[in-house]
Amino acid sequence: MNASTDRYDAVVFGAGAGGMSAAARLTAAGKKVLLVERLNRLGGRASSEVIDGHIVNVGAIAIELGGLFEETFDLLGVPLDIREPNPATVFYIDGKVINVAKGGWGMLLGTFTKQAAKIGAKFADARAGDLPEDKLSTQQWLKQYTSNETVHAIFRNLCAAIFAANADELPARAFLVYFAQKGAFKRFGFCPRGTVGLWNDLGDGIRAKGGEIWLNAPVVAMHAQNGRVIALDVEHEGAVHRVHADAFISNIGPTATATLPGAEALGADYIARAKSVPRPAANIVINFATRERLLDAPGLVTFGKTRRLCNMGELTATCPELAPAGWYQYVAYAVPRPAIGDFDDKVEIEESLADLRELFPGFKDAKMLSIRVMRDEWPAQRSCAGFDMPQDTPLANLWHVGDAVKDYGDGGTQACAYTGREAANKALAALARA
Ligand SMILES: Cc1cc2nc3c(=O)[nH]c(=O)nc-3n(C[C@H](O)[C@H](O)[C@H](O)COP(=O)(O)OP(=O)(O)OC[C@H]3O[C@@H](n4cnc5c(N)ncnc54)[C@H](O)[C@@H]3O)c2cc1C
Repeated sequence: MNASTDRYDAVVFGAGAGGMSAAARLTAAGKKVLLVERLNRLGGRASSEVIDGHIVNVGAIAIELGGLFEETFDLLGVPLDIREPNPATVFYIDGKVINVAKGGWGMLLGTFTKQAAKIGAKFADARAGDLPEDKLSTQQWLKQYTSNETVHAIFRNLCAAIFAANADELPARAFLVYFAQKGAFKRFGFCPRGTVGLWNDLGDGIRAKGGEIWLNAPVVAMHAQNGRVIALDVEHEGAVHRVHADAFISNIGPTATATLPGAEALGADYIARAKSVPRPAANIVINFATRERLLDAPGLVTFGKTRRLCNMGELTATCPELAPAGWYQYVAYAVPRPAIGDFDDKVEIEESLADLRELFPGFKDAKMLSIRVMRDEWPAQRSCAGFDMPQDTPLANLWHVGDAVKDYGDGGTQACAYTGREAANKALAALARA
């Protein structure tokens, strides 16, 4: 055991979207910050790896512009290296590309159901704060207005693409809050160096302002006294370091936090909730490349009736640097049934591939780069929207960030950036009082 020579204002553990955002904000506020990450790279489930000369994203690809995520970069003067596709989003239904940029959702739904205006009016109600009760699923809510199978398929695939859940798993309330009140991916882009490029830039910004980042550095224990965390044990460079701070921010999720040795200080009730409340939502990510372009659409394509596939993007249309010359590189997402709970990986992957084969004859000649099932401890969302834990913990100077403690109905890296801001503000207020 090495006693750390330094004491920090704040230690953030886990360098995912939430942890990076919190560490950036605390550093920008002039605090002495240590960020520790178990893996050898930044970004957590929004990172990238190189496979056969292709830069392949591990998780998030679409980064929202004009919100808290971008603000975090601005605070450290770090440019957000994002390229926006145009059009950003299209639908591919019955062999046709439908661009909703012009006519919007009304036009899209109006193609398939006479009830489009009624559904649109419900979105307007949601915008004004009139929301369905919590127990109603998105599918049950939609059934009140239409039984059209294509409309149901579109809603299922939107639930799957944004929340990694099926329409019968996601509360309608969460769906409507997201689409009527939140950013809802209106403007987004891709990083031409893979999503990890953004985190490397932000990491450089944190270090430039005096923040410390340790990679290959898992937290292995927590020490608490009198209702406060006083230190963490962190393995790093062959030794265990005991790092002390006044504020602690966990990005590893409430469940993993509650299983750390020393976490008993959180109390038995809290530990039981941390293990039972979050409902990890799963998805399947298929990265592949082709010599011929499969579809002429530079942004994200959402599908109509499918078995499991929900959306897909050809990243090389905006970021050709991601692939060696002559390759079109795609990422396709599928959501298993159920997405929350147990399923058979093999069956679900086969169903997802069957969709790709059926939709795109050219897929049979594709070079497969990776197929990942994101589930359990490394899921698409650590808790499905609508089933989040609070950010505060029973320990006065410990807060959670990340996608198990999102604001109601929120999703993705923007939601994590929001949790980062909230936790950083709570830590700053506590540091000011100390
Ligand atoms: C396939 C897929 C596609 C997605 N697409 C998008 C998208 O296009 N746009 C979007 O906005 N969102 C997308 N998301 C969601 C987004 O990626 C996640 O919501 C977000 O990245 C989660 O971030 P987080 O803050 O919860 O941290 P995480 O990513 O969970 O990071 C937590 C970090 O903590 C580390 N850690 C764990 N235990 C320890 C320990 N003991 N000590 C130290 N470190 C530890 C982990 O290694 C990890 O790096 C996608 C997700 C997936 C899986």
